[in-house]
Amino acid sequence: MTEENYPLIDPDGEKVVREKVCLKKKEEIEKALLEDDRCPARVIAFNFSSRESGGKIASPKPCCDIAILEYLEREGKFPVGYIIKKHYVHSVIQKGGLVGNPLVTYALRRKIKGVYKPRTTNKIDKKYIQKICQNEKLQYRPYAIKEGKTSKTIIFWHPEHGYSQANLKHWIKSPTTVDPFRNLKKDKEIIRRAKLVVFDNQLHDNYEVVDGGVFRESGVTRVTVFCKQHGIKTSATINNIEVGLWFNCPECSSDDFENIRRLHNLRRDEVDDRGSTIIALMLLSVNGNETLKFGISSSRSNSDEDDDILKKRYGNNLVKIFDSIRCDSELEARELEQELLVETRDIRNYSVPDEFAGKTECRSYTTKNLNRCMRLFSDLKAEYGAAKSGSR
Ligand SMILES: [Zn+2]
Repeated sequence: MTEENYPLIDPDGEKVVREKVCLKKKEEIEKALLEDDRCPARVIAFNFSSRESGGKIASPKPCCDIAILEYLEREGKFPVGYIIKKHYVHSVIQKGGLVGNPLVTYALRRKIKGVYKPRTTNKIDKKYIQKICQNEKLQYRPYAIKEGKTSKTIIFWHPEHGYSQANLKHWIKSPTTVDPFRNLKKDKEIIRRAKLVVFDNQLHDNYEVVDGGVFRESGVTRVTVFCKQHGIKTSATINNIEVGLWFNCPECSSDDFENIRRLHNLRRDEVDDRGSTIIALMLLSVNGNETLKFGISSSRSNSDEDDDILKKRYGNNLVKIFDSIRCDSELEARELEQELLVETRDIRNYSVPDEFAGKTECRSYTTKNLNRCMRLFSDLKAEYGAAKSGSR
C-alpha cells in the first residue's frame, strides 16, 4: 500500500475537509474496525471528501473510502480487497468511538445486539450500569437501584453534584443524552444568579440565598431565601429576585429597598432615567428630632438652584443643607447615594419613626458622625468631578 494507491484526500473530490481532521478520522476508523471483536479487520480509510447528506438540512458531511485488507478472525460483509465507496465518517465514528461497523453482517450484528439493551430491565444491575458509565465516559456512577411499583429508578452519584436519580428504562435507552444531573446543574446556576443579585445590590446584610434551597412547586422553580433582619425563611423565583429585588419576606416593608430596586432597574435599563439629579447631605427635623440624612431629588429643570429643589422636596423637615452634588443622570446620583449609605451603615439612625419614608437614609446626628459624613461626601464629590472632567 502506498500513498498513491490510497491518497488521504480524494484528488477528485471537493477539498473541504481539513487534512488534520482527515488524519485523525482515518486513524480512528482504522483502529475501531481493527478492535471491533465481532469481525476485527485491517482496513485503510482514504480518499476523504465531503458529500451532501440526505438529512432534513442538506449539509456536506465528511466521507471516505474504506479498503478491506484482511479479516483477523471471521469474514465480514464484504470480501477482502473490496472498497466501500464514499462512506460517511459519522456513520462509523462519533466522538472518537465506533457507532456503526459497515463490515458487520446481519448475523454478527444480532449476536452482539443489546450490549446496552438486554430484553428486560430485570437483568440490569449496578455493575452493568457502571460499565456503561465507564464506556461512555460519563461523569457519574450508579449508587443504587430502587424498585418501584411499576418502574425502576437508578440513583446516580456525581463527584461534584452529589446524588440524583433517573428512570431506569428511560436512561438506558440513551445514557449519553439523558443527564440525571441536569436539574441539579440548573439549580446551582439559579443559586449563583440569585447570590450575584444580592452581592451587586449590597444586600448581604439583609438576605442569604440558601445553598441547595431550590425547589419546584406547581411548575415554578423557587429559591429559598433567609431574611437576616427578621429571621424568616421565605422563597422567591429567580425572576422575582433579578427583575424586582423581591425576596418576599412578609416583614420587610417593600419601601426599605425602594432606592436599591430603583437603582437595580436603572442599571438594567428597565426604567427611564429622570435625568439631572441632586444628591445632598442634610440635617432634617423629624417629629422634633434632628437627624442627618442623605437624599436625592430629581431637578426637572436645570435652572432651579439645588437648595430650592431640596427645600421643595423636604419642606419643613429641612433644617440645613451641608453639601450637594448635581449629577447628569439619576443613575449616577443613585450610585453615589448607595455608596454613601453603605459606607455609613453602622451609624444608621434607628430612632427615626417607621412612618418616615426616608428612614433608611438617616444617620445619627453627632459632631463626629457629621464630620465623617462630610468628609465622605466631599471625597465622592471630588471623585465625581474628576471623572466628569476626565470624560469630557
Ligand atoms: Zn425581612
